[in-house]
Amino acid sequence: MRETGRFAPSPTGPLHAGSLVAALASWLDVRARGPQARWLIRIEDADTERCLPGMGEHMLRQLADCHLLPDETPVWQTQRTALYDAALQRLQALGLAYPCGCSRKDIDTALARLGHRHERHGERVYPGTCRDGLHGKPARAWRFATEKFESAQPGELRWTDRRLGEQRQNVSREVGDFVLRRADGPWAYQLAVVVDDAEQGVTDVVRGEDLADNTARQILLQRALGLPTPSYLHTPLVRGADGDKLSKQNGATPIDTATPEAAFAALRTAARVLGLGPATAASCAAALAGWVPEWHALYNSRP
Ligand code: GLU
Repeated sequence: MRETGRFAPSPTGPLHAGSLVAALASWLDVRARGPQARWLIRIEDADTERCLPGMGEHMLRQLADCHLLPDETPVWQTQRTALYDAALQRLQALGLAYPCGCSRKDIDTALARLGHRHERHGERVYPGTCRDGLHGKPARAWRFATEKFESAQPGELRWTDRRLGEQRQNVSREVGDFVLRRADGPWAYQLAVVVDDAEQGVTDVVRGEDLADNTARQILLQRALGLPTPSYLHTPLVRGADGDKLSKQNGATPIDTATPEAAFAALRTAARVLGLGPATAASCAAALAGWVPEWHALYNSRP
């Protein structure tokens, strides 16, 4: 299969220093594999409520300003919903997706009754209330039957990250039956990303470390749908002044790509986060070419 990487930003705000690191890393990873490899851009606008109008186009311009140009026309998740529908139907047919009528409050009440104080990154582990039916409530979401699927392959799910090494997660215990689609429309990231990566032939996922925790869920969905699992590499995060991951709250200002000099400065900052040397070249294009062998030596040369 043709080696394929991708950058898959959500158009919720302009690119910031952290997202440029993921874009640069995924681009370098593809280029280090040789001229036959493909670098794709996918605008992840499936969760329509969080997306801003015109932001996808703006991000594509920012990437082009940095000379990060895709090998094919970018795709937009909102134009691919038939694919997600087909995947959900397949999971339903396999008995691995079920409707859930619980509100957040219902979930809190059920967890309190069980004596659990389950909180994980501010998210509750779903207690499985609707696994055996909606109990007369209207459906609010479709959930993946994690426990049912995992019981066929017990134990922790293990996977190896190319930078972070061996990872493990018991998805039913640590995450629970996660949402695939909300009843009011939007597709969940987990389902859309798995369907898209497989449909686009993505062999190598390179993205920010904040997303590493989603990987076990995505591997479970790949297995349930009979799809291949790509390799994963999660890049170092850019930290804000408070030491936390960069976000709008702690100063993730948009990168400035208004002039070639500004775009080059933004790229050099991203390269430093990835452990690449200071570029001696005078332009984005020349610096990018120079970083390719460095990236290869750092991340692609391992057996
Ligand atoms: N759309 C996700 C984000 O911007 C990234 C998805 C991925 O790379 O898997 O956080």
